[in-house]
Amino acid sequence: MIAEVIVDIAHGEVDRVFDYKMPDISLELGFRVEVPFGRQKTEGFIIGVKDKSDLPEEKLKEIIRPLDEFPALSCECLRLAEFLKRKYHVPFALALRQFIPAELRGGRVKQKVISFVSLTEGISPLDMVASLRKGSTAQANAIGYLHTEGRALLSEINEKFGNSAIKALKEKGFITVFTEKASRVPYRELDAFSKDVELSSEQSSAIETVEKTGKTVTLLHGVTGSGKTEVYLRLINSTLKNGKTAIMLVPEIALTPQMLGQLRARFGDNVSIIHSGLSAGERYDEWLRLRTGEAKIAIGARSAIFAPLENLGLIIIDEEHDGSYEAETSPRYKTLDVATERAKLSGAKIVIGSATPSIDSYDKALSGEYALAKMNTRINGKNLPEFIVADMRGEVRRGNHSVFSSDLKEELKRCVEEDNQAIIFFNRRGYSQQVICRDCGYVARCENCDVTLNYHRDTGVLKCHYCGSAYKMLSACPECGSVNLSYSGAGTQRIVAELKQLFPNEEILRMDNDTTRNKEGHFKILKEFSDKKARFLVGTQMVAKGHDFPSVTLVGILDADMSLYFSDYRSTERTFQLLTQVAGRSGRANKKGKVVLQTYNPDNVTLQQAIAYDYEGFFQRERAMRKATGFPPYALVLRVMIESEDDGEAIDTLKADFEKLKNIYNKNQDNFLFFNKMRSPVKKINNKYRYQVLMRLTCEYENVKDEIYQNSLAEKTAKVLVYVEENPSNLY
Ligand code: ADP
Ligand code: ZN
Ligand code: ZN
Repeated sequence: MIAEVIVDIAHGEVDRVFDYKMPDISLELGFRVEVPFGRQKTEGFIIGVKDKSDLPEEKLKEIIRPLDEFPALSCECLRLAEFLKRKYHVPFALALRQFIPAELRGGRVKQKVISFVSLTEGISPLDMVASLRKGSTAQANAIGYLHTEGRALLSEINEKFGNSAIKALKEKGFITVFTEKASRVPYRELDAFSKDVELSSEQSSAIETVEKTGKTVTLLHGVTGSGKTEVYLRLINSTLKNGKTAIMLVPEIALTPQMLGQLRARFGDNVSIIHSGLSAGERYDEWLRLRTGEAKIAIGARSAIFAPLENLGLIIIDEEHDGSYEAETSPRYKTLDVATERAKLSGAKIVIGSATPSIDSYDKALSGEYALAKMNTRINGKNLPEFIVADMRGEVRRGNHSVFSSDLKEELKRCVEEDNQAIIFFNRRGYSQQVICRDCGYVARCENCDVTLNYHRDTGVLKCHYCGSAYKMLSACPECGSVNLSYSGAGTQRIVAELKQLFPNEEILRMDNDTTRNKEGHFKILKEFSDKKARFLVGTQMVAKGHDFPSVTLVGILDADMSLYFSDYRSTERTFQLLTQVAGRSGRANKKGKVVLQTYNPDNVTLQQAIAYDYEGFFQRERAMRKATGFPPYALVLRVMIESEDDGEAIDTLKADFEKLKNIYNKNQDNFLFFNKMRSPVKKINNKYRYQVLMRLTCEYENVKDEIYQNSLAEKTAKVLVYVEENPSNLY
């Protein structure tokens, strides 16, 4: 038999199938194997098996050995990898790697084995003790201990009674050592907590819609607090009852302790968590439990769509509008696209849920491509929280230079008096933003990246948020020597400081990228807040996600405007989503909620629609805008990115690529709405210069698209990185 092997080297030149002779044992599709390759050995994947090779027998080398005891990839995963390769034009090896934990490659992780001991059966413990030499107390004690305990960890009794005593007992045949494979279970400390609830009528009919529809995808459009999680849990439950498995995707696992806790409570060890924050061992064990069918539910961020489950029945994508579902490194996939392909292969259903669906998804739901389930009311039967708009222009005129408007101060006071909790949402990190020279206008910038630096008060450094470099604080302007430097803007640290001044007796928690470096960081903060150990939670986007804190009755949005100024076509959509999501944290249980929204643009239409919870109105307006101006989903944005440390080579590549693409453009001018080459908005990141060819195409583009990929990627060299992005969520 002949195996068709993809070697695990993600390089265009070896991105093809190599034939190998099977070893003595015949291996199936999906096995990882070690093979001779050139003068070396390398790892590879068996993606095909056949009787004969086109190559002469003597030219074929033989597979050295399988790397695992079972095929690491199922047939479904192999076919999904083919899809990734085809759609995103990446080497097959890179596509295949998505399906296994990174540590498996190169044998960096192994199954953990634990050794136990027990007394050997068939000999009475009394006889054992009697046969011992006098003075062998340690051995006698060990026998007694094992007699009462039944079995013990080898490491434990070695420690208790001494290695030599245990060794002697082993040699006499009195004790038997046996091993068990062990799983390293992550997040043992999770509160496995679940309420037993009766479904609301909206929840029941949402479930019915999913179960009855003949369509693959159902969009669950449910307002914040409408009980979407319960719908997911019930759907997972019936999927398992039908003997199938499920994948549940969330934007960020670290922000969903409540969801994890509920899953654990209801489904126990059937749940496997896939998360980049796990240790290598934990990650491998969780993967293995899914691959062997021991666990039937995978929960994780976007990469969990590659979970090695068989017999898949359901894929859930919670907060489907979230930007984290788009991969920003190769393969640059959209999670829903991969999910749709996977559902096609496995017959699974997909449920995508949000209070603020993406324009794209809602458009598909209205056009009938997706089924649509709606939940318009909160579980608590109360209205969505009331908005109070604080016009910050008036505040400054009235002499209030604080980051808090008088409205917000008043509501915070009330919140304290009534013993409730509040969340304060702010969009920036650090104590203040840029450092600007008031005399010459100099702005401190990163040396490696073309972006401004941010001042962090706690560490006293200037930090680049793109590459992480830290610089010493400036005492004078490097351009003109002036000491008249200003630190404009405000960050979470400054807000905490001001809040502490207003409420010296209240505890305040801060949550942003600086306070949540390690994997438990988020959990800890969220737990403390949910245990009411603090009155206020101040934070960036992270506080906007799906949290459910019953005592939160107030949300303060400090500057609603800034996301309006982002320069890409999705900034309006993102602003609307963000405002709705943050507001949705207020008043979720039996108390009514309020939101104070601070703005310098109270008349802005998007803000007005968010305040009125007018998703429909927002959608219609945004859709009309995108149609008129030719943006997704009514057009395709393609960006060919060219990056290199060598500016000259980058420019040469850009020119060469542009010429090739121009031929395509000339042949298909009717399909193009826009076509040009330029520097990227951020000119340099990590010392790499960035250029782009930006294109917008009408919807009849499929074959043109492949041509664009092939032509532009052909220019890649060792010093220049070229990649293509489709409808990228960031255009910086
Ligand atoms: P969403 O994700 O739609 O914002 P959640 O799923 O977090 O909302 O649910 C909001 C709250 O309502 C949670 O505390 C949840 O436990 C509770 N809940 C959900 N369904 C029910 C129900 N049928 N009866 C009572 N409480 C419910
Ligand atoms: Zn200056
Ligand atoms: Zn930098």
